[in-house]
Amino acid sequence: MPEAPSRPTLCPTCGGTHGAEACPRGAARRGAGSTLALGAPAITPLPEVAQPADPLVGQTVGNFRVVRALGRGGMGTVYLAEHPVIGSKVAIKFLHESMAGSPELVGRFYDEARAVNLIGHENIVGIFDLSLLPPARYYIVMEYLEGETLTARLRRGQVPLPVALDILLQLCDALHCAHERGVIHRDLKPDNVFLVKRRGKDHFVKLVDFGIAKLRDAPPGAKHTAAGMIVGTPEYMAPEQCDNRAVDARTDLYALGVMAYELASGRLPFAGRTITQLLLAHLKEPPEPPRQLNPAVPPALEAAVLRALAKKPEDRFADMAAFGTALAGVLDALAAQAPARPGPPAEAPAPAAPAPPVPVPLWQAEVRAAAGAEPRRLAASELTRGGMYLRAEGWLPPMFARLRVALERPGPEAPLELAAEVVRQVSPQDAAAWRMAPGFAVQFVDLTADQRAALSRLVDGAPRQGQAPRTPAPAEEGNDVAAAALVRDLHSRSAGGHYQLLGIPLDAEFTEVRSRAKALRAQLEALRGRPVPLEQAGQVGPLLERLEIAVSVLGSPVERLAYDARRGNHLGVARCVATGLAPSLLEARRRDFLAGNPGAEEESQKHFVRAKVARAMGNGPAARAEYEAALAKDPLNLDIQQAYWSLKREDGGSR
Ligand code: ADP
Ligand code: MG
Repeated sequence: MPEAPSRPTLCPTCGGTHGAEACPRGAARRGAGSTLALGAPAITPLPEVAQPADPLVGQTVGNFRVVRALGRGGMGTVYLAEHPVIGSKVAIKFLHESMAGSPELVGRFYDEARAVNLIGHENIVGIFDLSLLPPARYYIVMEYLEGETLTARLRRGQVPLPVALDILLQLCDALHCAHERGVIHRDLKPDNVFLVKRRGKDHFVKLVDFGIAKLRDAPPGAKHTAAGMIVGTPEYMAPEQCDNRAVDARTDLYALGVMAYELASGRLPFAGRTITQLLLAHLKEPPEPPRQLNPAVPPALEAAVLRALAKKPEDRFADMAAFGTALAGVLDALAAQAPARPGPPAEAPAPAAPAPPVPVPLWQAEVRAAAGAEPRRLAASELTRGGMYLRAEGWLPPMFARLRVALERPGPEAPLELAAEVVRQVSPQDAAAWRMAPGFAVQFVDLTADQRAALSRLVDGAPRQGQAPRTPAPAEEGNDVAAAALVRDLHSRSAGGHYQLLGIPLDAEFTEVRSRAKALRAQLEALRGRPVPLEQAGQVGPLLERLEIAVSVLGSPVERLAYDARRGNHLGVARCVATGLAPSLLEARRRDFLAGNPGAEEESQKHFVRAKVARAMGNGPAARAEYEAALAKDPLNLDIQQAYWSLKREDGGSR
């Protein structure tokens, strides 16, 4: 038994009142990252110390018999239990007895089950049941995870980079799903990430411990986290969590950034200090760039990690999906360096009805990586008010690198000086696959009003190199009829899908999406202020907005993939797959899709079988029709995609 504390003080580790050596969370273990519950919880948990003979072991709980304790946490102790007849294993988490008297703590315990069930993601531990063993042992029955925690894995040594990235991508996906459902984990750390064997991987992620998760739709008045209470684990706590400001999805993003830092560099960004020093470091100190600790970290990974660790939430990635896209880019680049990667069909589909080519105007720019650095002259295309694409063969600055750009202007004006940030990289390999020039896209940053105005003039102004990027604005009065017709036409098309609005085929290339959108935007913007009939004039603004939505969905492989899948547009899906999206992301999207479309997989498989039979019998057209029917039901099935495209290649690519 622990000694009774002579003068009760609040334990910084568990929030309880006890002597330091008696802390149930193990104050001495704090370096390993224990959850902190500081402040003034309405009920402070009392310490519990493991009994030599555990009364729960051997007990029957529901249909299961408790075998042994697996681990002890802040809210409860987790046991392994087995079904006595069929031998299946589960993990049962019992709320600490001392907490059972507090409706608030019981509520929080059940919130964990509620949060997990709300999310329902494969990379999050499954919860089967929640009940009470009389008189007062509340428990949750969950999936038993046989594997090791990421903490244990890290202890065994450096995790190979592709594995580390795959782990992070699975976490991004699970957390994105949680965030979409309004659940914030708030206690992300390697202790709460289990790696299990599944689907041929030995690092399939299972996220556990939503014990302090925040639910957006918690009933009003439910205050499971008392005001003034700080929760989290100091090593992984975001600045806003450290000083008790509002937390949101970006708080989890920061914690995942800490884990990414740890995986990449082998060290925590801030460690080995007192709790107060740690909190202060998160708030004030910039982390040492991971490449200084491990030069093998790719620059794009370093940039992504540092962005996730930005002190201000608004400087981080907007969400887990964006972080995931950046990490997937790093994984892709690694895979591209490795010889012969098995994967999605390399061949992208040919457009069904090629749209007339939209000319690409070119500008010239001088680009500097840093003040004083050697400028490089690059051709720029796709100039918009927000950014542009720079063609570069031998030079690919890291993601999020800040650049100085001097954009040449027609006439006697001096080049337009702008600050820009790299937001997308297109390696020569990617460029070949997407049939575009290699280079990188930049987004302009910190634009002044003058720079904005100058950019607008450039974007709207005369095209360079004798090409006509835009449909000329109707100049004479007679053209107002044409203008009104354009608005009417777009308005009627806007009722259809994004492809219809843009007037592009279902398998349009990404460059085509952007250039079509750009041309339409220019046409619409040119109508502003022109004497268009009132009815149509009012539609210009909403149409421009609608256009931006269409291009934001169809212009991004990740967004477009989900959109195309929902619509059974397997040609568009193939186009997205061909950009090299991470297999883990594709799998996760497919799972989500199939979960929302019960019976689709079964239907699809029937067609797939018929396709195989038809193909074996040499009936190409029937096989193709069956593959297409199969893909319409399960468009993200890469096996079918691969078979379909290989048949098309056999047929010599004829349509
Ligand atoms: P805490 O709130 O202290 O972090 P956890 O929910 O993480 O509590 O559970 C405590 C320990 O029990 C974990 O560190 C882990 O070792 C073990 N554990 C938790 N859930 C499972 C599970 N589903 N399967 C196997 N072990 C588990
Ligand atoms: Mg835990």
